[in-house]
Amino acid sequence: MPDRILVVEDERAIQTVIRTYLESAGYEVHLAMSGQEGLDLARTLAPALVILDLMLPGMDGLEVTARLRDESDVYILMLTARSEEMDRVAGLRMGADDYLTKPFSPRELVARVEAILRRRRNGSPLPAAELQLPHLRIAPDRVEAYAGDTLLDLTTTEFKLLFELADNAGRVLTREQIIERVWGDDFYGTDRIVDVYVGQVRRKIEEAVGTPLIQTVRGVGYKLIDA
Ligand code: CA
Repeated sequence: MPDRILVVEDERAIQTVIRTYLESAGYEVHLAMSGQEGLDLARTLAPALVILDLMLPGMDGLEVTARLRDESDVYILMLTARSEEMDRVAGLRMGADDYLTKPFSPRELVARVEAILRRRRNGSPLPAAELQLPHLRIAPDRVEAYAGDTLLDLTTTEFKLLFELADNAGRVLTREQIIERVWGDDFYGTDRIVDVYVGQVRRKIEEAVGTPLIQTVRGVGYKLIDA
């Protein structure tokens, strides 16, 4: 079964290009011309991914994103014009998974779609299986992490970070690997952000079990030691 993709875009020429490239990459493509039509089709088709233009007649892409997010976890790739930077940030905040600025190369679009769908297959959103280590227990389906008997009070990003480290317990993850797995393609900052987040998670674990569990491997990255 090919993955089903819904394209919500009011410009015919862009619709046609997107459809042509995605179909030749093996996807099943459906088109909507307006936000309302897009929402209706998303409900009936249950696509794997929605490609959503920001500027649409009637209900705009931001509102469509918000409404889609109320109803499902479908992946959303937003299309924006260069001048719409503020809206793009708003779109990501509202729950879009990635964005592409117009004009874009159709090949780039296909590459982004493949990356997003691969992320899904690689288990992000996080897999359901529980991780059990001597001091840590992580339940991805409930987004809960315990250090000893203490339920850790983690933000979503801190949780994802801890999950990735625990999933690779005993192995070093570089900052680049951590950024790719935790922040994905939506990442804009420097890799110092990893140090900041690791510091926070470490502190919370240490408060719970008296040891931080996460080790710095100087010049390389971080490793979770829990054995
Ligand atoms: Ca448009």
